[in-house]
Amino acid sequence: MNILISLDGIGYQTFEKYADSFLNRGYSYCKKMMTTFPSVTFNAHATALTGNEDKKHSVFDNIVSHSKTLEKVVLYGDHQALCNQQLHEQTLFSTLARQSFKSSCIHWPLTTDNPFVQHLVTESSSKKNNSIDESHAVYNLDTIALEETIACIRSNQFDFIATRFVAYDSLSHQFGKDSKEAMESLTFLFDSVDKLEQTLVEQEKPFNIIIFSDHGQSDVKSFFYPNERLFTSEWKEALLTNKVRFVGDGSGSLLFYSLLDEESNQKIMDDFTAMEEVRAFHILEGVNHSPFAPYGILDLQMNVCGEDFIPPEQPRYRNLKSLHGYDPLKIEEMNGFMICKGDQIVENKIVPESKLIHLAPTIAKLFKTSHGSDGEVMKGFLKEHG
Ligand SMILES: [Zn+2]
Repeated sequence: MNILISLDGIGYQTFEKYADSFLNRGYSYCKKMMTTFPSVTFNAHATALTGNEDKKHSVFDNIVSHSKTLEKVVLYGDHQALCNQQLHEQTLFSTLARQSFKSSCIHWPLTTDNPFVQHLVTESSSKKNNSIDESHAVYNLDTIALEETIACIRSNQFDFIATRFVAYDSLSHQFGKDSKEAMESLTFLFDSVDKLEQTLVEQEKPFNIIIFSDHGQSDVKSFFYPNERLFTSEWKEALLTNKVRFVGDGSGSLLFYSLLDEESNQKIMDDFTAMEEVRAFHILEGVNHSPFAPYGILDLQMNVCGEDFIPPEQPRYRNLKSLHGYDPLKIEEMNGFMICKGDQIVENKIVPESKLIHLAPTIAKLFKTSHGSDGEVMKGFLKEHG
């Protein structure tokens, strides 16, 4: 049995202080897992399980727009806009199902109705079906994830389990990435990992356990509202008639959608690039035919939090304490880590850097199959690879 655990939002530098306790128990360690850009949960989790870039899986951010209508599509919860057959077929679950392996998936984004998962527990179904105490919501949710995962291991019915824990990410946003609340959640999360490993050992069967984080966190120091700027500019009419739009959700970067001509787009990009809150404004190159592909990505300076409201709407994230979304090549804090241990994994190997996109093909290799994708099998961790 192979098990993949996502510990949402723990930056690689935050994890470093805890790495020894895992190395002492035989884990191998990738110090820095390069995440996606934008470095947000849904893009990163889609990349981890498909082994493809967003240009292929189309999950560019937690919120996207239709590139022709500019209608905003919020990907939280259950929906079919992007969580559909085209995405599901790219997942590792699909590759495994073709080989008759059975998968279970718990609280992983964008898995609703994935036909290649035999036992599926979505975050939205857990919220619906359980009385969750608001003040302990994140712990309630992660306790469900823990109990479901233990039950799946013990049931002996699955070859692959993917599960996700959200406490650290959620408490970081709320209280800060180094806050007492966020750091306390790490104790709970690492205890949960121990319990899962112990449950695997008790089954007395071969297993591999892989733990990673999808992105890191950075402190919020100021806010930036690009649609508010468009609203007070010569592009106000274009904004209000759905011809131009920034989309993002309390994030270090925003997607830019536009139906304007090249010259206008360039003018807008030049205008924003000159602002002190902006690090860079890229045109998205090499995009596939996804109807949700943005024209460009606005990358903000570190500690600047972007929001996409259009006046007279008001900002929603004034209380946000930490954020992510920035270009992970520029803001180191955006990247996660990976640790792994098991029958097919070498002990105590330390690799300085790899990429999220390599997870799915690497796990496929543990099943002695291959997962066709942009990513490759990670070097150094698997016994067969030496
Ligand atoms: Zn996340």
